[in-house]
Amino acid sequence: MEYYSLGKQSANVDFKIAAITGQAPDKGLYFPTTIPQLTAEQIERFKTLDKASLAFEVMRPYVGGTIDDASLKQICKETIDFDFPLVPITSNIKALELFHGPTLAFKDVGARFMSRCLGYFSKTSSSNNNTVLVATSGDTGGAVANGFLGVEGVQVIILYPKGKVSPIQELQLTTCGQNITALEVDGSFDDCQAIVKEAFMDADLNAAYHLTSANSINVARWLPQQLYYFFAWQQWVAQYGDNTPMHIVVPSGNFGNICAGMMAKASGLPLGHFVAACNDNNVVTRYLSTGNYEVKKSVETISNAMDVGNPSNFVRILEIMQNNFDQLKNALSSYSYDDISTQAAITRVYNDYGYTLDPHGAVAFLAAEEFIHDHEHAITHYNHTVESMPVHAVILETAHPVKFPEVVEEAIGHSLTIPASVQYLLDKPKQSIPLAATYAAFKQWMLRK
Ligand SMILES: *Cc1c(COP(=O)(O)O)cnc(C)c1O
Repeated sequence: MEYYSLGKQSANVDFKIAAITGQAPDKGLYFPTTIPQLTAEQIERFKTLDKASLAFEVMRPYVGGTIDDASLKQICKETIDFDFPLVPITSNIKALELFHGPTLAFKDVGARFMSRCLGYFSKTSSSNNNTVLVATSGDTGGAVANGFLGVEGVQVIILYPKGKVSPIQELQLTTCGQNITALEVDGSFDDCQAIVKEAFMDADLNAAYHLTSANSINVARWLPQQLYYFFAWQQWVAQYGDNTPMHIVVPSGNFGNICAGMMAKASGLPLGHFVAACNDNNVVTRYLSTGNYEVKKSVETISNAMDVGNPSNFVRILEIMQNNFDQLKNALSSYSYDDISTQAAITRVYNDYGYTLDPHGAVAFLAAEEFIHDHEHAITHYNHTVESMPVHAVILETAHPVKFPEVVEEAIGHSLTIPASVQYLLDKPKQSIPLAATYAAFKQWMLRK
């Protein structure tokens, strides 16, 4: 398996080089030269296969022999070593809960897979002393810090926007120590992302460090996210069999997660329609309705992990869709909601169904309701009948509500219990380095001493 750059100006590389370098020299994102196709036999067997074996079989072609089978099995087993339950909220909306990992957000899977791959590569070759640079709007930093903590031969530098991540998120990324350093940037997530992007282009920094990215532009973080969709589908067919399409609503920021789901579908997994749920950072929602891709600066919202003005992974979705706008519109819808609607949805879902959504899941829930409404409507219309078919959807619940206590507690009217697994963070001292939101300040810090 080789990877080509979507910038089209760089040479193809294998999985190892793509994972170690993050981005191609021409600034393009890497994309597999072929999307591995599942056989009918595999799909049938996958229905009841255990998670670790399933993960190994799905990831193996992408890794393409750069990691030996025994090591890859072990990496897969450790990566998905927690639950991914599909929990009913209403009669036709279920939540795939992706927050049962160590940092209570879905990014644990990608971060754990990637950290173990880099650990493997630095042990088995001279390519050690890698420095992972990552910009975070909240959850990436914690998952990357947790995933890479103690991995030998890898230093991690996390840039996060000061005052714009929740208290638990901040603790998760500032209390690790060891090989993890947190830079508290006096700016927005977009500023952090811009600094990281520029760093990869900087000859001086690249002479001093082996820099790589742990954002979802890195294939080792992006591709394992396909696994959620397999786990959801296993639970779905166990309940509904093969004939009820599983439409999937994904709260989206950088569009890595939803793009991974669309890859799983492109490889043959029988999934339904995809819906990107967005907050006011809605460039893709607007694009799908107008055909104009108009980037705006990100705005702050209560679903802050989706505060992304220009989603990096959207080019990969276009590639899967062969850059065909009609094909894209057939496969993907998008809806966007403001903070007031989001907060009201948390309250309503809690009161009516007894389920506590986090702000990202709440945006997805609203999109699921609207998608179901539009879809049933469409069926009624085309069939000239008043009876509509039941449409079911899965929303990805991407973070535990306790990561956003202020918003959620206000919405549901009482306090949340902090899970025992993160209680220990509260006693740890925060360690971060304040930084101005300029590339010059960052570079000076990197080349200090
Ligand atoms: C990162 C994140 C998202 C957005 O995922 P993308 O892959 O960037 O689209 C949504 N919700 C939560 C809680 C996240 O941490």
